[in-house]
Amino acid sequence: MNEFEAVIGLEVHLQLATQTKLFCGCLVKFASEPNRLTCPVCLGLPGSLPVINEKAISYALKVALALNCTIGEIVKFDRKNYYYPDLPKNYQISQYDLPLASRGSLLISGDNSKKIRIRRVHLEEDAGKLIHEEDCSLVDYNRTGVPLLEIVTEPEINSSEEAYNYLLSLKTLLKYLEVSDCDMEKGSLRCDANISMRVKDSSVLGTKTELKNMNSFKAVRCALDFEIKRQSALLEKGGAVVQETRLWDEEKGITISMRSKEEASDYRYFPEPDLVPFSIDRQTIETVKSSLPELPQEKALRLRQRYKLSEADAQFLVIEPKLVQFFEDCCKVYQKPKIILNWIKGPLSYEINQRNKPLEELKLKIDDFLALIKLVDNNTLSNLSAKSVLTIMLEEFKSPKEIIKEKNLDQVSNESSLLKFIEEVLAENQATREAYLNGKTNSIMFLVGQVMKNSKGKANPKIVKEILEKKLKGEKNA
Ligand code: ADP
Ligand code: MG
Ligand code: ZN
Repeated sequence: MNEFEAVIGLEVHLQLATQTKLFCGCLVKFASEPNRLTCPVCLGLPGSLPVINEKAISYALKVALALNCTIGEIVKFDRKNYYYPDLPKNYQISQYDLPLASRGSLLISGDNSKKIRIRRVHLEEDAGKLIHEEDCSLVDYNRTGVPLLEIVTEPEINSSEEAYNYLLSLKTLLKYLEVSDCDMEKGSLRCDANISMRVKDSSVLGTKTELKNMNSFKAVRCALDFEIKRQSALLEKGGAVVQETRLWDEEKGITISMRSKEEASDYRYFPEPDLVPFSIDRQTIETVKSSLPELPQEKALRLRQRYKLSEADAQFLVIEPKLVQFFEDCCKVYQKPKIILNWIKGPLSYEINQRNKPLEELKLKIDDFLALIKLVDNNTLSNLSAKSVLTIMLEEFKSPKEIIKEKNLDQVSNESSLLKFIEEVLAENQATREAYLNGKTNSIMFLVGQVMKNSKGKANPKIVKEILEKKLKGEKNA
C-alpha cells in the first residue's frame, strides 16, 4: 500500500500598523464606531483616485527583506474582481504577476529546523466586515482599504507541527520588525492553509483543499490534522480529493466544504489603471536593509555564544523581543546569565502566564528583580519566599527589601535558630532518623522538608541539610 505524506502551503495575511489606509487618508483603528473611518476612495465612489501609502511600502519592504526576498524591479497593482457586499468597489486592489517581492525563505525553529521557501510577498487592501445578525446582515467599511501584506510559502511544509512552527517563527520575526500588532484575535494576522496528500517522496503534487476560518495557530494545527486524516482516508479507499475551499468549525473540530475553489481566471485580474507601476530604487532598499534590527535567529545564535545558553533556552528567550531585552539588560548589571535565565524561565514566566499580560505591562524594574535574585544568592532569602516576594512586588510595586521587612521573610541561616527546628523534627520523626542511620541516606531530604515546613519556608535548606548531616553522622559514629 502507498504511504502518503502531507504537503502544505500557507498564506498569511498581515495587517500593517500604518496610521492610515493603503490608498487614502482614513485612519486605521480597531473597534471604532462602524462606517466612520471611510471616504470616497475606500468606498469606491465614482471619480475617486487611490494614492499609495509610502509607510505601507516601507513596512512591506522591511518584512520582505527580513524574509530574504528579492524585491521586484517593477511594482504593479492589479484589480482582482469579485462581487461581494463587503467589497464596495467590486474589486480589490492587489498584486498579481509582479508582486512587491518573491523568492525568500524563513528558517523555522523547533525540533528540526528547516528552511521554508517564501514564494511571494505582496500588498493588497482589506475588505470590509460583515456582521450577521439573526434576521439581517450588517456591513462595516472601516476595515475596507486597510493595508494587508500577504506572505505565501512554497508547498513544502510536511506536517501540522511544522506549519505551527512556521507560524510561530514568522510571528516572532514580525514582532521584531514592529510593523504589525500581529494580534490574531483582532484579525491582524490571518492564515489560510492549503493542503494535499501525495505518495511519499513522489514529485507529483496531489489535489489540494484550502482551509479558512482558523482563529489561532492551534486551530490551524487542528484543522490540518483533521484534513490530513480526511484526505488520507479518501485516497486509501481509492477516492479522490476535490479541489475546494473548506471552513474550519472550531466547535465540532471538523472542516466543512464551503465552495469549489475559484481559478485565477475567475477573478479576471487586470492592471489597476489608477496607479502607475513604479520601481523602488536600490538606495531605498539598502536603507531599509541596514535599518533592520537584529533578527530572532541571529539573536539566538549570539545569545548562545555570548551567554553560553542552550539552543532551547536561546529559542525560549527570542520568542519575545521584550523578554530578550530584559534578559540582556539584567545581564549587564549582574553577570550571572544562567541564574537570571532560570529566574525568567521559572518564577517570572509563571507570573506572566498567571496574569496573561506581556512583561512590559508588569512594570517590573530591573533593579528590583536583580535585588531579589541577589537576596537568594547571598542566602538572605529562601527560594520559596523569594517567589512570594516576586508576586507581591508585581501587585504592590514595592522593592523586595520593603516587602521582606513588612512580612518578616528573612531567611533563617544562623545555626542556633535552625538547631531548634532540627531538634524538633528529629524528635518527631524517629523512624526516619533510624532509616538514615541504617543507610537510607535519601531520607534526609524528608527531614529537610519538615524543617522547611515548620519554619514556614524561612529556613535555608542548604544549611539545614549540612547541620542535619553533621548531627546524624556524629550519632552514627557515637
Ligand atoms: P491558488 O491560486 O489556489 O491560490 P497558489 O498556487 O497561488 O494557489 O498557491 C497558494 C498556496 O497553496 C501556496 O502557499 C502554495 O504553496 C500552496 N499550494 C499550491 N499547490 C499546492 C498543493 N498541491 N498542495 C498543497 N499546497 C499547495
Ligand atoms: Mg490563494
Ligand atoms: Zn478612505
